[in-house]
Amino acid sequence: MASVELRNVWKIYGGKVQAVIDACWKCNDGEFFSILGPSGCGKSSTLRMIAGLEEITRGEILFDDRVVNKMPPSERNVAMVFENWALYPNLNVYENIAFPLRVRNLPEAEIDRKVKWAAEFLGLEPVLKTGVKHLSGGEMQRVSIGRAIVREPAVLIMDEPISHLDAGLRARMRDELKKQVAELGVTTLYITHDQVESMAMADRIAIMNLGRIQQVGTPLDIYYNPANEFVGGFIGEPPMNFTLCELVQEGENYFITSPSFRLQLDDICKARFLGYRGNPKLKLGVRPEDVLVSLTPMPNSFGLRVDFVEPQGDRTIISLQMNGDIFLAQVLGDLRPEVNQTVYVTFDQRHMHFFDVETGVNVLYMS
Ligand code: ADP
Ligand code: MG
Repeated sequence: MASVELRNVWKIYGGKVQAVIDACWKCNDGEFFSILGPSGCGKSSTLRMIAGLEEITRGEILFDDRVVNKMPPSERNVAMVFENWALYPNLNVYENIAFPLRVRNLPEAEIDRKVKWAAEFLGLEPVLKTGVKHLSGGEMQRVSIGRAIVREPAVLIMDEPISHLDAGLRARMRDELKKQVAELGVTTLYITHDQVESMAMADRIAIMNLGRIQQVGTPLDIYYNPANEFVGGFIGEPPMNFTLCELVQEGENYFITSPSFRLQLDDICKARFLGYRGNPKLKLGVRPEDVLVSLTPMPNSFGLRVDFVEPQGDRTIISLQMNGDIFLAQVLGDLRPEVNQTVYVTFDQRHMHFFDVETGVNVLYMS
């Protein structure tokens, strides 16, 4: 196994497409590390450089503190699992798993021992002699993992391995994959555009957008302490609400105001702003579950008109009219206001986020 580190890594295609811009991060030995971001943000380019399939335009990639820029892919000992699995359709499960070992001319007894180990580990023993075209999606996925792990890679890379499965199977495969990889203890780089997958599976996540790393952290850190507006909006479902506001100080008290509300900051939130000298015009970010709703006035609350109500059983999603934007609240399922009714709203002030209007940077980010 190995750690993987990127130092100021760039990928520029044809002298102009900046696919990866100055990436710096380190995945520790044995860690399950996810690279998350929208389609086209540079995830696959990053991992192809790590695997040695793509030249590094600038910067250094290190395995266990050793620069591998010039090392051919075959020597890096990286195994990859792709979305399209790329199994050999005319071979059975056994031969598909054995393939990378046959390429290396290992003795037959050793191949047999390793294939049987991988098959047992992945629960594929009953289908070892079956042709892969007769397998279910989940079984094919396991065969492709078997083929990757049978050579005992230093680093396992998975590029959107379950993105094309339907939702139910994806959730099951997610749990299964996580369990298997944890048992192996192999350093894993898991690439996905699906924030739910990253949040559920990864020890740490690197979030990318437009070629740049936005934040590296644990799922909880990224959720509760987003570095910028992009991260806040990308993580979480339903997504974070945003609206413009202004920070106003009146004597000892701080307020945030907008045409739709005036909210006094509590002591904890106020303390976070002590020493803040930046622009008082800010973009407020609040997640739907941190929007607290009541049918009657509460302390420090304000009235908003209900636009739409979506019951989801255990919870209700309420769309509210806020400064001409839609603001979503996620409340318990037994709260069902009427459309056009005025409800009373306040925010869980522990989880209010404030972003610079121009740069999107979280002005209260705790690094
Ligand atoms: P992701 O995997 O996050 O969807 P990619 O790394 O595949 O993103 O692509 C990042 C950017 O680089 C995209 O704009 C894509 O069009 C571009 N790109 C990827 N591969 C090539 C290539 N071989 N030549 C030119 N541009 C490429
Ligand atoms: Mg990709």
